[in-house]
Amino acid sequence: MGKVRVKIEDENRRKVIQKSKSYKIKIREPLEKKKKLLVLDIDRTLLFDSSPSAPIKLRPEMHKFLEKASLDYNIGLWSDSKMRRITSLIKRLRMDHQKSYKINFVVCERAVVNIDNGGEQMRVKPLDIVWSQLRQWSPKNTIMVDDLPKNFLMNPQTGLRIKRFDGKRSDRELSKLSRYLKKIASQKDFTVLNHSNWEN
Ligand SMILES: [Mg+2]
Repeated sequence: MGKVRVKIEDENRRKVIQKSKSYKIKIREPLEKKKKLLVLDIDRTLLFDSSPSAPIKLRPEMHKFLEKASLDYNIGLWSDSKMRRITSLIKRLRMDHQKSYKINFVVCERAVVNIDNGGEQMRVKPLDIVWSQLRQWSPKNTIMVDDLPKNFLMNPQTGLRIKRFDGKRSDRELSKLSRYLKKIASQKDFTVLNHSNWEN
């Protein structure tokens, strides 16, 4: 039993290493070394895009959130969708035309890895793929935000779970998150934090 588990973990790690070598992160704007790294999911985290015919609903304060975050963090988007869709979302939402923030890099579905989690297959977003290419950043200065905690299964310590956005105008998650990110921004080492208590 113990041996099987080790083999599965080795296999998962091998897949992540393989992916780190084959997948090239798309850098849109040069990263600033003095800033930390914020990796954001898109769907149900920043917006609600239910169908191609319906208008996209932005999570309240989305642009303001990105603006505030960019003071202390380089911003990356990682979505389990095609690069074409991510690029078009960035354009449509005018995230590429903001004076007050920049999207530094983008990661798409091709970097999502299928791992074995105790016999169950799961698609996850291993940050090692990002860290292997952006070598200045590590678990010490990176935070990942996603509505699906399984996405940070390979780096649980670095993940912050945000409530799923379902399009409600009364949603206040991003302004809350903004305050949390500001609070921890001067922290030298994120690995001493427990993001599961972020709302308190
Ligand atoms: Mg999501």
